[in-house]
Amino acid sequence: MAMAAVISLEETRQAFAKTRARQELHAYLDRWLERVEANMPDDTPSLEALTQAVLALRQELTGKITEVLVAQQHTQGLNQCIMPCPQCQRLLPARPAPPRTVHTMVGEVSLSRPYFYCPDCQHGFAPVDDALQLSERRTQWDMQQAAARLAAEVPFETAQELFTQLTGLSLSDHTIHAVTGELSQELGVLEVSPTAAAIAQRVAEMAAGKTWRPIMVLAIDGAFVPTRPAQAKGETTGRRRTQARQAGWQGEWKEAKGFRFYLVDQERIVHVLSWYQVARDEDVGTTLKRVKDAGLIPEDQVRLCVLGDGAKWIWKQVNALFPTAVQILDYYHCSEHVHKVGGLQFGEDAVQAREWVEAMMARLFWGYVDWAIEGLETLQPREDQTAEELRKLIGFLRNNAGRLHYRTARKGGYPIGSGGIEAANKSISHVRLKRSGAWWYIEQANYMLALRCAIYNGTFENVFEAYKRRALRRPEGDAL
Ligand SMILES: [Zn+2]
Repeated sequence: MAMAAVISLEETRQAFAKTRARQELHAYLDRWLERVEANMPDDTPSLEALTQAVLALRQELTGKITEVLVAQQHTQGLNQCIMPCPQCQRLLPARPAPPRTVHTMVGEVSLSRPYFYCPDCQHGFAPVDDALQLSERRTQWDMQQAAARLAAEVPFETAQELFTQLTGLSLSDHTIHAVTGELSQELGVLEVSPTAAAIAQRVAEMAAGKTWRPIMVLAIDGAFVPTRPAQAKGETTGRRRTQARQAGWQGEWKEAKGFRFYLVDQERIVHVLSWYQVARDEDVGTTLKRVKDAGLIPEDQVRLCVLGDGAKWIWKQVNALFPTAVQILDYYHCSEHVHKVGGLQFGEDAVQAREWVEAMMARLFWGYVDWAIEGLETLQPREDQTAEELRKLIGFLRNNAGRLHYRTARKGGYPIGSGGIEAANKSISHVRLKRSGAWWYIEQANYMLALRCAIYNGTFENVFEAYKRRALRRPEGDAL
């Protein structure tokens, strides 16, 4: 009986607080409307003039609504006047503290909340901040996420400009750089990959209604990234090339090595996962091993095929990690080699050069590698350079003989060209990193590549969630 009475008293108190908060908000809305009306340019304003007047003051209203909602939902925490120290349990009185103002997508939110300080432990804390899961930054999670997403697409300065134009909120240059950096710096291939379950789901969808296991392609390739040396540190980003030269350092194109797993059938390509970094050859193998060891590739559910160029390191890694995969040498890469020799040998006679190249490629396409090599061996090189290229081509074809069964591959539904990875190269690397005048520190380029892989892999939100957990020091599985 006594218990019921207590609850009912608390309920009454809450209902009263709610009514008071609503009244306060209604009064605020009246004052807000008056200000909007005062901002109206003329008697018959266009819709645009009206929306602009609203937009200019929108954040103030939505921020205020949020403040009222906080007051309503956190009544108990906001009225707490005594609290034990979480470290020594000493009872601490609430201290007067200035309100904390945070920036959110709906505007500034001012929080007047109790603050506690334990002089013994020299520990200060505001429990309502924890209950609200505030970021330590003034700029809160929603703004951080939007800013990082924009910065992953366009240069930082543009991201900052667009953000302000689209939202009416300002964001500092420092915040956008810092958030993007913190978000991406702990990312590895597993952090940006979809889960094994999500991948299995895509495989199952691709397999539905078919007799054969679906084909999963692993394409390995590189994309060039403009980098700047570490000694250029301290300069602003995005300097033009000429200025870079004047500043006494030379930009350098470095290869971001990467791979893409994707599923193919006659109609479509379904992306699985991608990873790119400016790194050493062996790092690609290490990363692929992590993907394999994490059980992300359901090898028994797919027909795995590896597509790559002639680089020896690729095939060394593939033989070690996926020994049963079908290996295919990228047809275009092979054709480039043949074209080079054709051009040198029949230089001035373009028709003859083309016919020779076509005949060679036809032999290779049909799987007559020995015949193609014989043809090369009987060719009388015109000069020393041709002889050298010819020797290299013969070696190249011998080394890759087992990867040239183009017709058989195509009949089996396997791709023979690298279109799939080139699309990934372009989306992940080129569109963001290869911009006029942009030269990246390798570290920064790799952070950006990791973040863009997350977007490409559809895991950006998970990556942001993990960053938030780190900042709030909450373990995975603990509900946010
Ligand atoms: Zn204490």
